[in-house]
Amino acid sequence: MQLNDTQFNLLRRSMKRAKAYEGNLYSKKYKDIDVDGIRTQEDFESLPFTEKSELRDVYPLGIQAVPDEQIVRVHSSSGTTGTPIIIPYTKQDVEDWAFLFARCYEMAGITKEDRVHITPGYGLWTAGIGFQLGCEKLGAMAIPMGPGNTNKQLQMMMDLGSTVICATSSYALLLAEEIEKRGIKDKIKLKKGVIGSERWGDKMRQRISSELGIELYDIYGLTEIYGPGIGVNCSREEPMHYWDDFIYLEIIDPETGRVLPDGETGEIVISTLRKEGAPLFRYRTHDLSRIVPEKCPCGSPFPRIDRIIGRSDDMIKVKGVNIYPGQIEDVLKTVDGVSSEYQVLIDHVNGKDVMTLSFETSPDADKTLTENAVTAAFKTKVGLTIVPKSVDMGELPRSEKKSKRIIDNRF
Ligand code: ZN
Repeated sequence: MQLNDTQFNLLRRSMKRAKAYEGNLYSKKYKDIDVDGIRTQEDFESLPFTEKSELRDVYPLGIQAVPDEQIVRVHSSSGTTGTPIIIPYTKQDVEDWAFLFARCYEMAGITKEDRVHITPGYGLWTAGIGFQLGCEKLGAMAIPMGPGNTNKQLQMMMDLGSTVICATSSYALLLAEEIEKRGIKDKIKLKKGVIGSERWGDKMRQRISSELGIELYDIYGLTEIYGPGIGVNCSREEPMHYWDDFIYLEIIDPETGRVLPDGETGEIVISTLRKEGAPLFRYRTHDLSRIVPEKCPCGSPFPRIDRIIGRSDDMIKVKGVNIYPGQIEDVLKTVDGVSSEYQVLIDHVNGKDVMTLSFETSPDADKTLTENAVTAAFKTKVGLTIVPKSVDMGELPRSEKKSKRIIDNRF
């Protein structure tokens, strides 16, 4: 998808500001780049990518692009691997984010009448507060629960008649199972779920959706680019509309950095068009998806990306074969009697990689048959022979945080 004139103008204006702000990452990075000279798609695509490590290197506030008096808030990305990244926001950035998030709720058919039960965490995280900002902007009732304390979650859900649940997919599943277990489904008024922040498969989707009897929507976003709320799917189809009046999105080959044609799967790269506090250009998200070239039947003019199929850094190489978590789920969903929960264990035994795939099977399924079917499907679709391990439903760990499904013991 090519840059249009409006996007070009916004980008150049934003790049010039960042470059001119002393101490900003781009004042050095773009030192030898003539921003006014960026006129064609080719010019733009010749600009260097911005890597997450560069944002870490300028910790704490080296991506700030306006004076302190204009900054009203900071957020931080999870520092799972060392130094966190701090993202400063201006008043306008916060308003823009609320506007975009409200647009997501609207796209999902949520209205002022709704009562929105928000379970993602609050604090330095962008999660909870983003769901809340958008909800208030829309005019719906926010119920700011935050994560954890399942008893209280369910009590409030019943007492207040929450109609929308916002959660990670694992937590939504945990709540769905708990509602089922306690037999309180008739007291729950949920109609829709807005699910964010991690890759999740069709089987999990079906289970949450059918156990709770709700419509599910995927919301996309990352702390570095506002937070959740830069895209969501509509009620018609799975791919997510994204807001191209605020971001420009490219798909690249994660190995070579080449921009891929629309429709091909690769890594999402995002440039902010209007962000003031911390503008980013050609930022590598490491999320894997593709631009969906077809127009959506809903008629929305906003372009679309497919559901996230994984992270380019989650790619694992086993016996020389590249595997993404998304592929594993795609294989499992083809086998009857197999649930969405799985765990991968990779070992190095006698000079060879061994991949053990554990998955949950329904009580009426024959374990040996499902194991054979999964092995065969994996061999056909991914080209790798695995060791299958069928376990009972509920045996694999659930988590309120992002599930850690792949355990690599080789290194
Ligand atoms: Zn649509």
